[in-house]
Formats: sequence, structure tokens, C-alpha cells
Amino acid sequence: MTTRKVLISGASIAGPALAGLLARTGYDVTVVEKASQLRAGGQAVDFKGRTHRDILTRMGVWDDVCAQQTPKTDWRMVDDADRVMAVIPGEFIGGDVEILRGDLAGILHRRSADDVDYVFGDEIAALTDGPDGVDVSFAHRADERFDLVVGADGVHSAVRRLAFGPELDHVERLGYFYAVASGSVPLDGLETRLPSGRAVAYGYNVPGRLALAGGQKAPNLFVFRGGGGDAYDRRDIDSQRGFLQDAFAGVGWRVPEMLAAAGAASDFYLDEITRTRMTTYTRGRVALVGDAGYANTLGGFGTGLAMMGAYVLAGELARAHGDHGAAFAAYDARMRKPTKVARTGSAGPFLAPPTQRRIRLRDRTFANPVMRRAMMWITDVFATDTSLPDYGPGVAARVR
Ligand SMILES: Cc1cc2nc3c(=O)[nH]c(=O)nc-3n(C[C@H](O)[C@H](O)[C@H](O)COP(=O)(O)OP(=O)(O)OC[C@H]3O[C@@H](n4cnc5c(N)ncnc54)[C@H](O)[C@@H]3O)c2cc1C
Repeated sequence: MTTRKVLISGASIAGPALAGLLARTGYDVTVVEKASQLRAGGQAVDFKGRTHRDILTRMGVWDDVCAQQTPKTDWRMVDDADRVMAVIPGEFIGGDVEILRGDLAGILHRRSADDVDYVFGDEIAALTDGPDGVDVSFAHRADERFDLVVGADGVHSAVRRLAFGPELDHVERLGYFYAVASGSVPLDGLETRLPSGRAVAYGYNVPGRLALAGGQKAPNLFVFRGGGGDAYDRRDIDSQRGFLQDAFAGVGWRVPEMLAAAGAASDFYLDEITRTRMTTYTRGRVALVGDAGYANTLGGFGTGLAMMGAYVLAGELARAHGDHGAAFAAYDARMRKPTKVARTGSAGPFLAPPTQRRIRLRDRTFANPVMRRAMMWITDVFATDTSLPDYGPGVAARVR
């Protein structure tokens, strides 16, 4: 093996998933995370189809994920008077298994924490990719050389910016934003759990806006059209909260209570809905995994793709016995097809249709059983369309 020391930027989903696999196959792995601790929050993320199940099983986390899964949640789309206009089934919104993003990050971190050096509260400031390694400067730690650097630092990846160029060369802004925050609001008179065990969330639309009350323990979700990512400061949470408040000012239903809860929530998270345009995820000794390379916000595939990318990159490195050039080429080639889903579509206009007519059209589609089945079929095709590489005992056996 010629490659031993790996630096991963980002400790959410892709980072800890890859770190655990690499550490168990003999690498010396450091993960640097900008936040001061593992970040809580986020909606439920989901896994769907045989490919996802195989990957999670081979990673050894399937049982943990199932043990912490959330109940299937149907979305009832209601009007001002709580009349149900349509039901979007939990199987469409989520997959076969759903888990809160923060819980999944916790599982992946716990499973790798003994073998990986996690550094919180720091970040890469500069990197120079050379023939013998990547020289990295950090914001706080001393400079260090690594054999490989992996950006698992999300859609606003610093590694991508430093190694591949400016964000807007690779990321498409889609004119919509979303915010997620815990905090229950009174849903008096509305059932939030069915006798079957399924949960119910309630969605309220006005043109270009969706407010989804999560009910029970699920966080609330806001989706809205907006003027541009420069309307708030991405590093300032108060500025983000203000941006959300302005977007929903004057909207009725239970929105004022939901906004008040979001104003106080410690896990408040807001971002722009974006998708990436990349088709190769490696350059020199630098690779991108997860949203850093193939994000499609709220598209429903980001977390599954992040897990797949971690598995494929670790597998190809093991197969190439540390020849990162061969491994990176194979990783790029293998991920090109499954990541196509990240380069198409946008969840914004579906969740928060821009006009009253388009809200009605979406609701009628889901109220019609034939159309609903067709929509479900489309998500199944995307989810099961990838055959899983078999890395044999090099990765699968050792991480099982
Ligand atoms: C707190 C949070 C809440 C989320 N909520 C949702 C949601 O509700 N719905 C949804 O669809 N998706 C959500 N996401 C995104 C979702 O987790 C990803 O789409 C998907 O799981 C792929 O994960 P990832 O690890 O590639 O990227 P991400 O989950 O985005 O993780 C990136 C990680 O890198 C860290 N990071 C960022 N910049 C740097 C840097 N310069 N140096 C070091 N570390 C850095 C971040 O703090 C984060 O921990 C959320 C992400 C986070 C971090």
C-alpha cells in the first residue's frame, strides 16, 4: 500500500462513513469538522431499495439504523380550515427506512470514533496538491502533509473550492430555500399518529411557500422561493432566522407559532436548495464524497448517495492497493451513473409550487390513485437502478 494518511473534511454523513471504512482497512484517518461538535438537527433522511440496504449492511450499520428509524410519515396537505386536500404517502417522501439525520451522524461517528482522529472546531485554510502528498494548512492546527484529502464538507465544500474552483462553477442555485427546526406547535384536533403506527405531518401551502408541521418528534420544515443566497449571511444564524421570518411574514394557519418555535430552536438549519453539476469528483490527490460532489437538496437521494460514495471510494482504494490514481478513476466512473439523479430535478417547485394553480395540480395528482402510483414508481426506479460493486474481502469482509 502506497497511501496511508488521509484527511477528511466534514463530520456529518459522508465523512464519518468513509472514515470508518478507511480506518478499518488500514488507513491513518483524521477528520476535521468546522463545527465545535457533531451537528444535531435535520429532517429524516431515507434509504430505499436493495442497493442502499446492501451498502448499509456491508458497512455494518443497517441494524443500528433500523433500531433508530422514525415511523413512516404521511404528509396531509391542508387548507386554512385544516381540510385535507391531498395525502403524500410516507413511502414517496421517505424510503424503506427513515432516520433523523442527526441520529445517523451519531451512529456513523460512534462506530468510527475509536479508530479515527476527530478534530472539531477547525477547518482547512489552504491545500497544495503535489506529487508526494497534499500540504494542508488549517485555521488553528499546525500544517501537515497527507497522502490524500477528501472533501465531505457538504454542498458549500471548502475542499471543492480550494481544489476545483469557485462554488458557482459547480453548484446551481435553484431559487428556493429550506429551513428545518425542532419545536412542536399545537395541532389540536389533528391526529399525528395513526392506529397503524404511521405518523402524520401537516403541510400548508401558499404560492411559493410550504410550512410543514412535523407533529410528534419530527422537526418542522419550511420551503420557500427567495431572491438569492446573498439575502442573508450564511455564517450568521440570526440573519438566517430573519430571512425565514421575512419570507413567511403574514402567512396564516399555524405558521406564526411555527416561526416562533424556529426562532428559539437550537438545531435551526437553513440553506439554499441547490444541485451540483460535477461529473468527476477527483483531482490529483483530492476527492469529493457526498454533497460536496453530488448534492440535490431535498431531492431524497443525498444521504443514500453519500453512503454509496463512501463505500465505493473505500472499496476502490482497497482494490487498487492504495494506488490513488487508479482508485480515483474507478470511483469517478462508478459514481457517474448513480449521481445523475443529483444533477436533475428540483424539490422546490414540487414542495412549494409557485402559483395557486400549481398547488392544486400537485394536490390533485396525489389525490388520484393512478397518478400517485406512477409517482411512486418513478422514485423506485431511481432508488434501485444501481448495481453495487463487490469489493470482496478487502472492504466488505473487514467492515461487516
Ligand atoms: C445540521 C444539518 C442539517 C441538515 N438537514 C437536512 C434536511 O433537513 N434535509 C436535507 O435534505 N438535508 C439536510 N442536510 C444535508 C444532508 O445531511 C446531506 O444532504 C446528506 O446527508 C449528505 O451528507 P454530507 O455528509 O455529504 O454533507 P452534510 O450533511 O452537508 O455535511 C457536511 C459537514 O461538513 C461540515 N463542514 C462544512 N464546511 C466545512 C469546512 N470548511 N471544514 C470542515 N467541515 C465543514 C459541516 O458542518 C457538516 O458537518 C443537513 C446537513 C446538516 C449538516
